Amino acid sequence: MKSYDVIVIGGGAAGLMCAITAGKRGKKVLILERADRIGKKILISGGGRCNFTNLNISPDCYLSSNPHFCKSALSRYTQWDFIDLVEKYKIVYHEKIHGQLFCDKSSKEILAMLLKECEDVGVKIFTDVTVSSVESVEKYFVTSNYGEFSAASLVIATGGLSLPKLGGSGFGYEVAKQFGINLIPNRAGLVPFTFDGDVKEICQHLSGISVKTDVKLFNSATKINFTENILFTHKGLSGPAILQLSSYWNSGGFISLNLLPDADSLMIFKSLKTEFPNSLLRNKLSNFLPKRLVQELENLLWQELSQIPLRKIADEQLKQIAKLINAWILKPNGTEGYQTAEVTLGGVDTNELSSKTMEARKQPGLYFIGEVIDVTGHLGGFNFQWAWSSGYAAGQYV
Ligand SMILES: Cc1cc2nc3c(=O)[nH]c(=O)nc-3n(C[C@H](O)[C@H](O)[C@H](O)COP(=O)(O)OP(=O)(O)OC[C@H]3O[C@@H](n4cnc5c(N)ncnc54)[C@H](O)[C@@H]3O)c2cc1C
Repeated sequence: MKSYDVIVIGGGAAGLMCAITAGKRGKKVLILERADRIGKKILISGGGRCNFTNLNISPDCYLSSNPHFCKSALSRYTQWDFIDLVEKYKIVYHEKIHGQLFCDKSSKEILAMLLKECEDVGVKIFTDVTVSSVESVEKYFVTSNYGEFSAASLVIATGGLSLPKLGGSGFGYEVAKQFGINLIPNRAGLVPFTFDGDVKEICQHLSGISVKTDVKLFNSATKINFTENILFTHKGLSGPAILQLSSYWNSGGFISLNLLPDADSLMIFKSLKTEFPNSLLRNKLSNFLPKRLVQELENLLWQELSQIPLRKIADEQLKQIAKLINAWILKPNGTEGYQTAEVTLGGVDTNELSSKTMEARKQPGLYFIGEVIDVTGHLGGFNFQWAWSSGYAAGQYV
């Protein structure tokens, strides 16, 4: 049996950062990765350019049953620390929008950087590993198709359930259960909404159209809104604003879309009526919203007025239409689920872990890091930053 100081199960963003940090402290570290290569999610992330962090990292941008838990790790390994590392490797990057930092060239550069850091401190990596059991008798014993390994510290960095094709697995939750550690129920986050009936049909007709929209939950105590693009798809709605909102949405809930977030629609309608009294609302509204979207909205919301010139539409009727455009209330019938979700909400209960070290309170030597924990970031580099920060936190104590 081979003995190490630290065994990290899962060679994703969090596992690699933890291994590097522990390796720098002189620890003998082994990473066991189930997939045929390390860091698959890093490679496909950000459309192949890895949105590796955000300039505006803040605990408010994370969802968790305990919103305070992430603060300590985020403050001890910040976005600036990761940016320093990226700059040390001369990886050229840019801010896309809202502080989101992407590689100019390829996410391969981020993975290559992490692997070089691992190599420099002698981290041992095995891929194609099937772990069959984890046991704790003074030390931790991991049995796998590569044989049996032991270590004083065991780090679970196996991520969540999202994208099973890229390694998403419930392994971390099983280990937590084995050691009596509580779990917060999981659900898919940063995921497109699906619809049925008329709305699904509309989405299908508009598939591919993207429009800046302010989205929020309707009739909900959670007062959060996102103003970014939404994207109509064959199944429903996606796009950054929708993905962000999906993490806050609970099954059965309604959402509200303001399709003209930068303008007062009633003012627009009234001035159109004055300036173009003989025009149809549909034709003039197409200067503000995509033509096909306006046509679908007309079919749904004001079909009886479709052939009536603006001058003949009463202000009260315009007010009603304006209200609908400012608050189009829809009820998703679900989400696309883990097959397309970027993240998994819920996971290892933060009350079970030290926010300083990520060590399980009731199981000394056992650590959880990254997405397997009940901490989920907004879209825009927040999830990788959590992986770097929580990985670093554990790496300092394993
Ligand atoms: C399509 C997509 C794009 C994304 N883009 C971004 C982005 O641009 N910016 C951002 O901040 N976030 C992004 N995310 C989210 C981000 O990838 C995750 O939050 C982050 O990778 C979590 O890191 P992790 O190390 O905890 O888990 P993961 O990166 O999922 O790594 C877990 C690793 O554990 C391995 N594993 C699982 N089970 C076992 C087992 N039983 N034994 C051994 N190994 C196992 C997996 O194969 C995997 O390699 C994206 C996610 C997806 C799905």
